[in-house]
Amino acid sequence: MENEKNSIFKSWEIGSKVNPLIIAGPCSAESESQIMSIGTKLKTLGVNVFRAGIWKPRTRPNSFEGVGAIGLPWLKLLKQELGIKVAVEVANAKHVHEALKADVDILWIGARTSVNPFSIQEIADSLKGTDVPILVKNPINPDVDLWQGAIERIIGAGIDKIAAVHRGFSSFNNTIYRNVPMWELPIELRRRMPDIPMICDPSHIGGKRTMIQEISQKAMDLNYDGLMIECHTDPDNAWSDAAQQITPAALQNVLDQLILKVLEVDNPAVKNELKELRNQIDHFDNELIGVLQQRMKVASQIGEYKSANNITILQPKRWHEILTRSLEIGANANLSSEFMSKIFSAIHQESINKQTAIVKDFDVKK
Ligand code: PEP
Ligand code: MN
Repeated sequence: MENEKNSIFKSWEIGSKVNPLIIAGPCSAESESQIMSIGTKLKTLGVNVFRAGIWKPRTRPNSFEGVGAIGLPWLKLLKQELGIKVAVEVANAKHVHEALKADVDILWIGARTSVNPFSIQEIADSLKGTDVPILVKNPINPDVDLWQGAIERIIGAGIDKIAAVHRGFSSFNNTIYRNVPMWELPIELRRRMPDIPMICDPSHIGGKRTMIQEISQKAMDLNYDGLMIECHTDPDNAWSDAAQQITPAALQNVLDQLILKVLEVDNPAVKNELKELRNQIDHFDNELIGVLQQRMKVASQIGEYKSANNITILQPKRWHEILTRSLEIGANANLSSEFMSKIFSAIHQESINKQTAIVKDFDVKK
């Protein structure tokens, strides 16, 4: 699987350093000289793809909405002068048409567009007959189906060079992130679509410079295929997303400090040790399943007792006791309350499901 994924990148001819693929550039194109000066610096760092937003989907009106199509010739010039691949965001068929006319190499679909199947379908239809690589950012809301659906629509248009970009999810709660990563969602997308490479966008997840390193490292630890990082020669004065952009020198620092990880090693001693530990995991998983089976049997017996005596299935006081007790015991066993409450809520819900089936059956027979 790993090889297949990498071969997708190789076929993009984006560069030999496929792990990780580095996409960098300003949030927005501002001027020809800005594009040229950032691009020149990034090229010397070995960045594979230069990104710049031309059309900016802004949350509120009257903020800078991108320079528009006049920025496309700047990217074309950068390409010609430096031989670097360029990528822009597209949100409709007109953007696709204009970007392709200007020889843009890679298009990305932003988070505010991937939420909308109509927009995605319009983009997909406009891509038919082309073979331009497409990056699909996650939708702003945490919905794996929607993200997968957007990718499927692009696949349906006959595009075979597709990657997903994880840029985090909007949250109503105050968090340290601009967009909460919810790592479990991209992990689930990769389980469902193992051939789609996954790129992390630490800039939009973190929202501030200081978080780029840590988020990028986490992505490497999770076997991501690339990073998309916003870079500007004068980040403080960037026309959009100033707080999260870093200088090319800071990017170099991030990349230098990154510890790259591999999926597997060839060393037989390490492999054996890992195998032995995994055997132990399998053993405990078997035990867990056996214990759960026994617990559900008892829950079913309780269900029969409740049926026969017309006792409600849900017993709020008892459930409170179970949860409090488990959290306490869990805390002593170094198991976090978040984990314990997730596990026990799932177990309790399954008991309720089993008992509901029993009571229904009993009431029908009555
Ligand atoms: C961007 O990449 O600048 C951008 C607008 O990203 P997102 O769609 O992730 O908000
Ligand atoms: Mn941005």
